[in-house]
Amino acid sequence: MDLSLKIYNSLSKEKEVFQPLHEGRVGMYVCGPTVYSDVHLGNCRTFVSFDVIYRYLLHKGFKVRYVRNITDVGHLLDDGEDRMSKGARVSQLEPMEVAQKYSNGFHDIMRILNALPPSIEPRATGHIPEQIEMVQTILANGYAYEINGSVYFDTLKFIQEKGTYGMLSGRKVDELIAESRELKKQDEKRHPADFAIWMKASEEHIMRWRSPWGEGFPGWHLECSAMSTKYLGEDFDIHGGGNDLKFPHHENEIAQNVGACRHTGAKYWLHTNMLLMNGKKMSKSDGNTISPVELFSGNSPHVSKGYSPMVVRFFMLQTHYRSTLDLTDEALQAAEKGYRRLMEANQALQGLAHPGPDIKGPLDEEIQTLIGQVEEEMNDDFNTPKTLAKLFELVSKINGLKDGHLSFEGLAASTLDEIKTLFREFIFDILGLQDEAQGGGDSATLDGLMQLIIEMRADARQRKDWPTSDKIRDTLKDLHIQLKDSKEGTAWVKE
Ligand code: AMP
Ligand code: ZN
Repeated sequence: MDLSLKIYNSLSKEKEVFQPLHEGRVGMYVCGPTVYSDVHLGNCRTFVSFDVIYRYLLHKGFKVRYVRNITDVGHLLDDGEDRMSKGARVSQLEPMEVAQKYSNGFHDIMRILNALPPSIEPRATGHIPEQIEMVQTILANGYAYEINGSVYFDTLKFIQEKGTYGMLSGRKVDELIAESRELKKQDEKRHPADFAIWMKASEEHIMRWRSPWGEGFPGWHLECSAMSTKYLGEDFDIHGGGNDLKFPHHENEIAQNVGACRHTGAKYWLHTNMLLMNGKKMSKSDGNTISPVELFSGNSPHVSKGYSPMVVRFFMLQTHYRSTLDLTDEALQAAEKGYRRLMEANQALQGLAHPGPDIKGPLDEEIQTLIGQVEEEMNDDFNTPKTLAKLFELVSKINGLKDGHLSFEGLAASTLDEIKTLFREFIFDILGLQDEAQGGGDSATLDGLMQLIIEMRADARQRKDWPTSDKIRDTLKDLHIQLKDSKEGTAWVKE
């Protein structure tokens, strides 16, 4: 069985066998949210996708340093105003209050969706000296120029000398010139395709820092170049973000990195596809949007009822991260059914006891093949929908064994244990789902502990130690955990 991990690299536009730069270790940088308003569900899709990727790399045994930034300066609106400054002006708060408020909200939603926190979460405003230093290096290398207190990246010179601009997005300079003709302030630049890496702050601009070029603030693309290389090195393994960031954000990041240190930065570029709603891109401007809280509570005209965070997470996992995902009420209802079926099957599975005889036969072979395929699907560019499909093929077997439609004959006891472990690892640790009927939380640990308790009770009963057996049942009852005995074993549910 081929257990190598294959990743689709947006840079080569091919699936490649993943080989980290340093054996056993992975450095991954993901563009985080711009914290000027509440995080929307599209952002959540991207971060849940990278959470699964992070979890799977950990499962593969890599020591992962996962860096996901917070953009709290420099990300401008179309009219040129800084998103953070606008957020502050509209709500009459300090820009840092705005950043804190929405960072807290973002963290709350990530926790509810059971996304693991990154190893490092750097803020752009906390890395101004690093960004100034990078601008100085790019200037010193001759790939930028200063005009009136702003510094621009010299795209044309960079292309002439390096010839690499456009390697990610495939954009051609002629196209860029045509597109950027109408941009404001372009007269200040030498060439329409040049972009600001440091911007002079106007009188009314609130977020400003002293620099060798006067008071100003860094360009948005610069923060990710400066922070990724600071924490992961000039060459690192993975860079991720939504595919709307390919151009200009990521393209300019590569140019800045090459311009500063001659290294391109990441070896593998991963891009998630967009979340749609009812077939159209989710967007705040035309009202085609739903917030995570509205979706959980059902307080939105777009849904008939609320959907729990784990149903939402399951819904996201049912589509591959490189495909668009269309959020509809029907699709969420189907996801709710699928999620419940998977959780119920896992509860039944964990309570199944092999009645013997413990002999390998055709059923064992069939199940072993499925077990292998679950891992193979995840190895194929983190294909969560296909992984789930294989898990559901196993669910049919589990339900058959539970109902008695399928005999245990020909299934080794060790294989039954393997399915139990596989389900715990894939459902909880890798896909990051929680069993809401069993209290959510750290489902894998809780489930493991419950299996231990159930086995201890079964041992007590075999020894006819009724006081111990009763004590276990009564204590669990006080904790609102009910044991359900059947001839195939004991299952548990949280009431
Ligand atoms: P932003 O806060 O706009 O900087 O976006 C944070 C992350 O969410 C980026 O990686 C974006 O590419 C991603 N993103 C934004 N909108 C969507 C969407 N509709 N679907 C999926 N990802 C998105
Ligand atoms: Zn970025």
